[in-house]
Amino acid sequence: MWANYHTHSNFCDGRGTPDEILNSAKHKHVLSIGLSSHAPLPFPKPWCMKADQLEDYFLTISHLNKSESGIEIACGLEVDYVPDQIGPADLQSRLDYTIGSIHFVDALPDGTPWEVDGAAETFQQGFNSIFRKNARSAISRYFELTREMIARSTPDIVGHLDKIKIQNKNNSLFQESESWYRAEVRQTLRQIREAECVLEVNTRGLYQKKTVDPYPSPWVLAQAHELGLPVTLSSDAHHPDQLTCEFTETAAILYEIGFRHLMVWYTGRWQLVSFNPHGIQFSELSR
Ligand SMILES: [Zn+2]
Ligand SMILES: [Zn+2]
Repeated sequence: MWANYHTHSNFCDGRGTPDEILNSAKHKHVLSIGLSSHAPLPFPKPWCMKADQLEDYFLTISHLNKSESGIEIACGLEVDYVPDQIGPADLQSRLDYTIGSIHFVDALPDGTPWEVDGAAETFQQGFNSIFRKNARSAISRYFELTREMIARSTPDIVGHLDKIKIQNKNNSLFQESESWYRAEVRQTLRQIREAECVLEVNTRGLYQKKTVDPYPSPWVLAQAHELGLPVTLSSDAHHPDQLTCEFTETAAILYEIGFRHLMVWYTGRWQLVSFNPHGIQFSELSR
C-alpha cells in the first residue's frame, strides 16, 4: 500500500482525468493520493493549468472526495516560485496542500523566465546568456531561489529539491561532491527544517531514465534524515500508470538510510506513518 501526492492530470500536462488517476490508485493500492496539477502561471506556458480551469479543478476533486472510493484524496497544486509574480502561499487558502517547485531561474534577455528543467536547448540559452556558462553561479542561484521561496512563500512540501541535476548528465556541469554544492544543499535543507516543510522524494527522473538517483540524491537524503526532516514519497506522475513507479526501489533507499516514517494524508490531515520497502503500514491508522 502506498501514497502519492505529486500527480498531474489532464488539467495540466498530465494524461488522464482525475477520475482515471483514482481508478489507477485503486489498482495499485495507493490508499491516499494528492492531485497536484501545475498551478496557473502569470505568463503563458503550455504545461500549466489555465486560470479559468481552477474552479473546475476544485469542483472535480471535491466530487471525487464524495465518491466514497475508500481512498483519501487531497487537493493540491504544484506551484512555481517566481519572485514578485507567483508563489505557493498565493494559492494555499483553497488547498489541502501546496508543493513548491523551482522550474524557473531569473529571466532570459527578452524577459522570459528561464525554464531550467526543460529542453537542453532552453537550458543552454539561459546558461550562456544569464550566467556566462558559470555552472556554480547558475546552480547556486537555483538553490538560493528555493530558499527564498521557503522563506517568503512557504509551501507544505518542497518539490524535487535537486531537479537541476537533470541538466548535469555525466557530471558535465559539476560534481555533487564539490564543497560549494554541498553547502548550497545543506543550507537549503536547514531552511526546510526551520520552516517545518516536508521534503519530497521524487522518482520521476529514475523511471524516465533522466537521472540515476531520485530527487534528491541519497547523500542529500542522508543529511535530511540527520536533520530529522519529514519526507513524502512521490512519483510526479504524468500518467495514471506512473503512480508507483520506482517506489519499492526508492523506499528501500530511504529505509537503508534510516527513515522509518512517511508523511501521509489521512482523515484530512498529515500524519507520520511507518513504511518499509514493500509499502506503507496503513493498518496503523485509525479514523
Ligand atoms: Zn515540477
Ligand atoms: Zn510535477
